Amino acid sequence: MALVFYNTLTKKKELFKQISSKMEVTMYNCGPTVYDYSHIGNFRSYMIADLLRRYLEIKGFKVKQVMNITDVGHMTFDEEADASGEDKIEKKAKEQKKDPYQIANFYTKTFFEDMKKLNMKRADVYPRATKHVKEMQELINKLMKKGYAYFANGWVYFSIERFKKYGKLSGNTIDKLKVGARLEAKADKKDPRDFALWAHDAAHIMQWDSPWGKGYPGWHIECSAMSMKYLGKTIDIHTGGEDNIFPHHECEIAQSEGATGKPFVKYWLHTRHLMINGKKMSKSLGNFYTLRDLVDKGYTPRAIRYLLLSAHYRTKLNLTEESLKAAEASVRRMQDFVNELKHVRQGKSSKKVDKLVNGVRKKFEEHMDDDLNTSLALGDIFYFMREVNKLLSKEHMSKANANSALKVIFHFDKVLGLDLEPKIWYSYRDAKGEIKQLIDARERFRKTKEWDKADSVREKLKKKGITVQDTEKGPRWIRST
Ligand code: AMP
Ligand code: ZN
Repeated sequence: MALVFYNTLTKKKELFKQISSKMEVTMYNCGPTVYDYSHIGNFRSYMIADLLRRYLEIKGFKVKQVMNITDVGHMTFDEEADASGEDKIEKKAKEQKKDPYQIANFYTKTFFEDMKKLNMKRADVYPRATKHVKEMQELINKLMKKGYAYFANGWVYFSIERFKKYGKLSGNTIDKLKVGARLEAKADKKDPRDFALWAHDAAHIMQWDSPWGKGYPGWHIECSAMSMKYLGKTIDIHTGGEDNIFPHHECEIAQSEGATGKPFVKYWLHTRHLMINGKKMSKSLGNFYTLRDLVDKGYTPRAIRYLLLSAHYRTKLNLTEESLKAAEASVRRMQDFVNELKHVRQGKSSKKVDKLVNGVRKKFEEHMDDDLNTSLALGDIFYFMREVNKLLSKEHMSKANANSALKVIFHFDKVLGLDLEPKIWYSYRDAKGEIKQLIDARERFRKTKEWDKADSVREKLKKKGITVQDTEKGPRWIRST
């Protein structure tokens, strides 16, 4: 079976062939601009990056993954060719009368908390823009030397007409780019469509010294500089949401390829937007939900993860109460299925189970290989569960059958990340040695209502990585680390 991805650059599905001669893949994901909580739409994009990583790992690749944290330079008119406006982080800092770093640090922290709740694997590096200004300045210097960039009045602009392949990703070639209302023709700019690599604004709080005077970097230059620093001049995969195609990724290509003369990215993958009532979920429209909002409404991060994975990443996905409830029910069905299989003791052995296991393994891989078609791959799993459930209800299932069904589900779960492996609770009878002594001691204190002492024993057990829970049948315990 062959892995294919739809490449935004060539506008067709292409066979995936990594650049390295080893089984190694380099991947850069456009990450959050940390001026607010990431919303569920943002997480759809990061989820696809996580899915890609997990699937490539299952296929035997070692993935070097980098996701940037944008903490300076992302402007409010980010859909315009010149990406002008106000710096989003500074705008928020001024509104809240806080330091921009305070804003960025806070929302970086919440971003990581949410990523963890959604069970996303950690990238190898999360470079922050403000920590890479030197690398950005070096890149700008290179572009100036090569004649792709020019200095004007404290600013440095990229001259798009110098880069002949401008527009190759988005189709927004220079001849098609109309000078719109927001693309104001600044006196010092050669062309209103030129975008800033280095900005000059005395009122900007975050400032750095540079060969062009005090200022701050543009948004696009950070991704070019940080991708090159950590992954090299040409990388395998670059991802982002579809709104990143233009101008952000178009500009990244112009800067990177202008500077190195080499292709920047082999495969460009873009996630379609998460929608709400037919509109793109976005902060500027104010129609967004954060993970926290949905958790407060009673949805589990696991169901939200499932929902984001349930549609193929190149189809628009609409967020509704019904779709959330359906995701919750689907995850529960998967978990119930796993739990049922765990409890199979002995039944008649069935050859059909092996056939179903082999069939679903093949189908899942076939559909995932086809540009990560999670929608069909989940369909395969649900078909498998229905058929196995029929056998389960007739007790046509041996312990060995159940184990092979479980094995294939856990294999899929390495890709889906739904954490379906049940945590094993042990009964009191399974406790031995010091654990048994501590559980006994705690029980004695509970009987004599010496709650403080009972609690301190519980704490002792916690320190040993043991969590105790009281049930009607007595205490049970789990290894939590
Ligand atoms: P930002 O924090 O605005 O820089 O966006 C972070 C990432 O989320 C980018 O890759 C965007 O393309 C992506 N994104 C923004 N809105 C959505 C949405 N509604 N659905 C999917 N991805 C989105
Ligand atoms: Zn980026």
